[in-house]
Amino acid sequence: MTSSTQSGATSSSAPQLGATSSSAPRPCQEICAQLSDYLDGEAAAEVCAAIDAHLATCPDCRVVVNTLDRTVRLYRALPAAELPPEAAARLYAVLDLPAPAL
Ligand SMILES: [Zn+2]
Repeated sequence: MTSSTQSGATSSSAPQLGATSSSAPRPCQEICAQLSDYLDGEAAAEVCAAIDAHLATCPDCRVVVNTLDRTVRLYRALPAAELPPEAAARLYAVLDLPAPAL
């Protein structure tokens, strides 16, 4: 009688890293290189699609895009920096500078 008792010492505890993207999206560098066109709306449709697809999977690039987008919007929303004359006068007074002739 053969009693082959297997001690169940085969505990394969492989860490589950299920983040294997089958269709590898474009690398972040390539995305970043095209972000300005993307935000300007000047990127080709396929480029936009690729970037959108990448952003859906890459939180890092999403942060970059959000920050860039906000910066660009803010910058464009701002009129040419203009101080109210009163504030300008006070500012120049505080700085002890002659106010420029407007
Ligand atoms: Zn990325």
